[in-house]
Amino acid sequence: MSHIASRLAAVKPSASMAVSQAARELAATGVDVIDLGLGEPDFAAPDHITEAAFAAAKADRMLYTASLGTPDLRRAVAAKFSRENGLDYAIDEIAVANGAKQIIFNALMATVEEGDELILPAPYFVSYPEMAKLFGGVPVTPACAAEAGFRLTPEVLDAAITEKSRWLFLNMPGNPSGAVYTTEQLQALGEVLAKHPQVMILSDEIYEHIVFDGREFVSFGKACPELRDRTLIVNGVSKAYAMTGWRVGYAAGPKDLIKAMATIQSQSCTSVSAPAQIAAQAALEGPQDCVATFCRAFERRRDVVVEGIAAINTLTLDPPEGAFYAYIGCAALIGAKTPAGEVLTDDVAVATYLLNDAHVAAVPGTAYGLSPFFRISTATSEEILTEAIARIGRAVAKLDM
Ligand code: PMP
Repeated sequence: MSHIASRLAAVKPSASMAVSQAARELAATGVDVIDLGLGEPDFAAPDHITEAAFAAAKADRMLYTASLGTPDLRRAVAAKFSRENGLDYAIDEIAVANGAKQIIFNALMATVEEGDELILPAPYFVSYPEMAKLFGGVPVTPACAAEAGFRLTPEVLDAAITEKSRWLFLNMPGNPSGAVYTTEQLQALGEVLAKHPQVMILSDEIYEHIVFDGREFVSFGKACPELRDRTLIVNGVSKAYAMTGWRVGYAAGPKDLIKAMATIQSQSCTSVSAPAQIAAQAALEGPQDCVATFCRAFERRRDVVVEGIAAINTLTLDPPEGAFYAYIGCAALIGAKTPAGEVLTDDVAVATYLLNDAHVAAVPGTAYGLSPFFRISTATSEEILTEAIARIGRAVAKLDM
């Protein structure tokens, strides 16, 4: 038996990946399963992006690069922050890593001491608390209710901060909620944070281009410039350019933190794969029309889901403001009896019922720290979404409430 380090004892594997695994297993038995578990754009990355990587790999030897990314890519990232977010960062304030996930991982490894608290407003991205625990951090997960648009309020933030708080994580548009913050809402949080210099802010803005109803996306860095020296802005090409498998994420933040992240990166993966960095640079510097096209498609899908769920009167969903998920409230189903006589005691039971009866894979809200909900990904065609919702409606109608 292998010895597994104790730091892993409390760390869970990704819940959305587990749901997809269960869906695949059911599908392998011949069942027609609709998997709405994982969140990946279903579009192809635009040709100019893949061609840039291909041409470079054919023309040149692909060698290790600087740990924090090629100077060209880091310049392209700095230019992106300036052009799209109105933020000025120097090259030595920019990091590139294997996805936003590795950026977050490196940042936490560089900063978290045993017992430090990380404020993760719930519902949160599933990986945040697990990464926090990996480094001895303690997740503090204040609930952000659907009635408050799933947004963190200054009061809730104030109550969550202690002397041990090391990080506040914000994620906008939010996964799974879709919640977006206005400048005023961010500044109200900034006022609270100004009183607590021990708290660093990680703003995960990976879904920034997927915002609906004409909303304007405002970076935390733009709303709260006075917190610049303790803010890490995280982003990447996965969602904006349909490039999840290329694994390129980036961040802008204080020089000393970026330098510490470089040390970690140089002793772990060395660098992001060179062709992937060339592809990411092409994405950031090339034509941007794909970004708006993807966003419009996600908005139409959001509309299909909102309309479909509204017709099922035991489920609740306010229109998500961005990203490509719907976080559906299922409080009315808790306590209901399935045709097999099983009582749905929590949202895990609801998601299990939906998988086994409707053959739709959704992730239970427990995974995101706010129940009872389930999340479906809307990163699939309108036809598939329509069919999935029809199935969910039929399964819910069979319950004895
Ligand atoms: N942050 C959030 C909120 C996400 O939803 C995801 C992907 N599901 C990531 C980060 C990871 O992105 P990347 O592919 O760049 O690692």
